Amino acid sequence: MDLMNYIDGNFQAHTGEQWLDVVEPATGKQFARVPLSSPSDVDSAILAARKAQSEWGGLSHSERAGWLDIIADELESRYEDIASLESRDTGKPISLARAVDANRSVANFRFFAEMIRTHRGEVFEMADADNFVTYRPVGVGALITPWNLPLYLLSWKVAPAIGMGNTVVCKPSEMTPMTANLLMEVIDKVGLPPGVVNLVHGDGGGAGSCLVSHSDVDLVSFTGGTSTGAKVAASAAPHFKKISLELGGKNSSIVFADCDLNKTIEGVGRAAFLNQGQICLCGSRILVQDSIYDEFVEGFIDSVESLKIGDPSEDSTQLGALISSGHLKKVKEYVSIAKDEGGHFLTGGDDMEIQSSLSRDLEGGYWMAPTVIGGLSPDSRCSTEEIFGPVVTVHRFKTEEEAIEIANGTRYGLAGSVWTEDLEKGIRVAEGIRTGMVWVNTWLHRDLRTPFGGVGDSGVGREGGRWSLGFFSETLNVCVKR
Ligand code: NAD
Repeated sequence: MDLMNYIDGNFQAHTGEQWLDVVEPATGKQFARVPLSSPSDVDSAILAARKAQSEWGGLSHSERAGWLDIIADELESRYEDIASLESRDTGKPISLARAVDANRSVANFRFFAEMIRTHRGEVFEMADADNFVTYRPVGVGALITPWNLPLYLLSWKVAPAIGMGNTVVCKPSEMTPMTANLLMEVIDKVGLPPGVVNLVHGDGGGAGSCLVSHSDVDLVSFTGGTSTGAKVAASAAPHFKKISLELGGKNSSIVFADCDLNKTIEGVGRAAFLNQGQICLCGSRILVQDSIYDEFVEGFIDSVESLKIGDPSEDSTQLGALISSGHLKKVKEYVSIAKDEGGHFLTGGDDMEIQSSLSRDLEGGYWMAPTVIGGLSPDSRCSTEEIFGPVVTVHRFKTEEEAIEIANGTRYGLAGSVWTEDLEKGIRVAEGIRTGMVWVNTWLHRDLRTPFGGVGDSGVGREGGRWSLGFFSETLNVCVKR
C-alpha cells in the first residue's frame, strides 16, 4: 500500500519521488510505503489550513463539538481496523491495541467534544468595571507525533486543536503512519470542511522540520524524544510560536515494605513492560524497600517470566516486538552497558530463547525478552537514561528520603508510581518527586480532565483537559469601565 498526503480535503500524491518503507516489527517485512514529502507539500498543507481557518474558527463551540462527535462515531465504527493496523504497524499485542489505542482514540474525540461544548469564558468584576476573558483560536497548528501510541496521541492533539477553532497540519511518525491515514479516511468520509485537518507524511529532518520552522505556523504541539524536542524548540523559537513539548521519561516505581505485595508486583510489572516498555510513562527503575527486596524480586521475576511473548495478532499475547531493528540495537546496547557497569541479569538479557520459540514468519522480527537488571548503582547510565524498551533496573532503598532522592536522580521528570498501604505516606512521597504525574497504588490510570506533561528533560507545558483548551487557544481580556 502506498500512502498519500491529505491536503485541502483531498488525498494527494506527494511531489518528488522519495518513499520510505513501512516495516512490520513482528516480521521485519515491508508492508506499505510512506511518502517523504517535500517542502512544497508542506507549503500546500499549511496554505490549505490557513485558508480554512477563519471560517472554521468562526463556528460556535457547539458546532465544532458536533463535528468532534461525528468523527468519534465514525472512528468507533472502525474500531477493529484501528486495533489491527496499530498492532501490525507497531508490533504491539492486539489486545493492547484494542483496549488502549482504539478505545482512547475514540474517547479523545468524545471527551474534547464534551469539554468544548461546555467551555465558557470568564468574567472578573472590579468595583467600577468588568473583565471579559474569551478564548480564541491560535491559528494554524503543527501536530507532530511519535510511533509508540500513534492514533492515541494524534487524536489527543487533533481533537482539542480543531475543537478550539484552529486548523492543523499533522505529521505522524514515518514508522507508524497507518492509523493517521485511517483518521484522514474518517475525516474525508464525514465531510469535515476541507483544510481543517491536513496530513503530510515524511521524516523528521524533511517534512517535520520544514513544518515546525514554517513562518505561517502559529503553534507546535510535539510529542517525541528529548533530543528532537530540543531541535523543535530551537526552530520554533525565532517566530515565537506557541509550543508544547511532551518528551521522554525515566520514571521510578517506588515499592514500600507496607505495600500489598501481589497487587504491587502486578502493577509494577505492567508499568515496566506494557507496550514492551515503549511508553514514556513506563516505570523502568524500580526502587524497593530493603526489608522486602528479596521477596519482591522473587515474585516479580516469576511474574515477568510468565509473560507470553510472540505473535501480536494472537489474543493471548502479552508482549510483542520492538518498533525497529535500529531501536532494538539501541536497547541491546544498553544491556551491554549494564554489564559493563556491573549489573547482573535477574531475568532476560538474552534473546536466543525467544527466537527459537517463534514461528518462522516471525523470525525476522525485532524481539527481546523482558529484562530485569540488579546490582547497578542508581546513578548508572542504565538507571538514569531513557532506554524505552523491555529493560528495567531494580534498586534497594531504606528510607522515604532515600527513595525520593533516588527518584529525583535523573534529568527527566515525567511520571512515577508509589506503592504503599499508607496513603498519607504515598501522597507525601509523590509530592517529593520532581515530576509531572505520580500514581499511588496504580499506574496509567488516566482521567482525561487532569494535566499531562513533565518537567526537566521530559518537556514543557501540559496537555489534557482544560490545559489542552488553554494551550490550543489565545485568551483575550476585554475590560469594560462602567
Ligand atoms: P522522535 O523524537 O524520534 O520522533 C517523534 C516525531 O518527531 C516523529 O514524527 C518524527 O518524524 C518527528 N521529528 C524528528 N525530527 C524532527 C525535527 N527535527 N523536526 C520536527 N519533527 C521531527 O521520537 P520517537 O522515537 O518517534 O518516539 C519515542 C520518544 O517519544 C521517546 O523518547 C518517548 O519517551 C517519547 N514520548 C513521549 C510522550 C509524552 O507524552 N511525553 C509520549 C510518547 C512518546
